[in-house]
Amino acid sequence: MSGASETAMTGAVRRGTNLPRVAGYNQVLVLDLIRRAPGLSRSDLVRRTGLTMQTLSNICRRLVEAGLIREAGRVRSGMGAPRIVYEVEPEGRYAVGLHIDPARLTFAVLDLAGKVVAERTSPVPDPSDPPHVLDAIDGGVRAVLRELEIPMDRVAGLGVATPGPIDAPRGVVVAPPQLPGWDLVPLRDDLQARLEMPVVLEKDNTAAAMGEVWKAPRDGESFAFLYLGTGAAAGIVRDGEVLRGSGASFGNIAHMAADPDGPHCSCGGRGCVNVSAWPGAIVADGMAAGALEPVDTGDPHAVELALAELARVSREVPDSSAAQVLERAAGSFARVAVQLANLLDLDAIVFGGSQWPALEETFLRVVPELVNRAFIARSFRSVEVRGTSVGGPVGAIGAAALVLQETMFDATGQLHLQ
Ligand SMILES: [Zn+2]
Repeated sequence: MSGASETAMTGAVRRGTNLPRVAGYNQVLVLDLIRRAPGLSRSDLVRRTGLTMQTLSNICRRLVEAGLIREAGRVRSGMGAPRIVYEVEPEGRYAVGLHIDPARLTFAVLDLAGKVVAERTSPVPDPSDPPHVLDAIDGGVRAVLRELEIPMDRVAGLGVATPGPIDAPRGVVVAPPQLPGWDLVPLRDDLQARLEMPVVLEKDNTAAAMGEVWKAPRDGESFAFLYLGTGAAAGIVRDGEVLRGSGASFGNIAHMAADPDGPHCSCGGRGCVNVSAWPGAIVADGMAAGALEPVDTGDPHAVELALAELARVSREVPDSSAAQVLERAAGSFARVAVQLANLLDLDAIVFGGSQWPALEETFLRVVPELVNRAFIARSFRSVEVRGTSVGGPVGAIGAAALVLQETMFDATGQLHLQ
């Protein structure tokens, strides 16, 4: 602790020193190791972290006192005293995740062990202007916590996955095309004030990638999560780490080429995802092919029902125009997927989102072959194409996981022990 002498020497006020920062970092490390691998003993933890037994014992004692880990028993191996093993205290903290889709609000509650203890879905209120949606979120968060009998002081915070663009540093939703009337909404601060808990904002595609990594991690995998909701966007995971941008355009695939013969786009290009492959465009193609009755492609509910109808007919009549529409859509996303796989040297493409159930059957049949036929490194490895293993609430779960990461540990890695 050299804060005073450091100030005297440099003449500037500096917060903290290396020493407490390292201590905080070590706590995070130990808590994370225990969360990922329950049943580690103190000597296992010493081996994995390189800390001294004295330091490690102090950290474990603090974590136990803070109610974040507990003794899970003692194991005896060989000679000597039995060793204490630890696990996280699942009820030590909870995080709430919320996914705002233009059609529905999905809530998920995670405990400290990462288990999903509740999932709830409710329709987005009509009208879907910010004041009404904020009321619905406020009510939804309080209701699920009350139902689970979770006291507020055990809640680490609320993570919100929303369509982009967002201004992440300021916590503002910036006029997403899918949420009409949402123009520069300070969602983070508004919800923080109402709920009196920390609120973290993230784009839905990035949150979905986080949910996938949190619930179904594969060691060091690099993949793109192609999120198909009301719109379409990509979350990027590099060596097991979810990459996050400022929220402005990270993972935006709207102007990637999906169909070289497709319609012209406002960007000057042709056949962009924006005009030829987003879920509303697939429905428009279905109408043009005579496979669907006319519907409003700007209405997320109508799009979802229309895609389900295409999937139903396609299953029943394999050569139908409905089947051909879905196969064209699969071809478009295969083109996008291979561009991402080549650019980022990906191991896998993972599809998910609220429209995924309708597209799954056709996409998993068509996309893997198309991607691997064009993948640049195909002579020595292939790209796996799969659907999400988490399902519908993947965005909400990712947002909740983000809360555990961001609100319990500050920017320097210090653990907040309340
Ligand atoms: Zn374009």
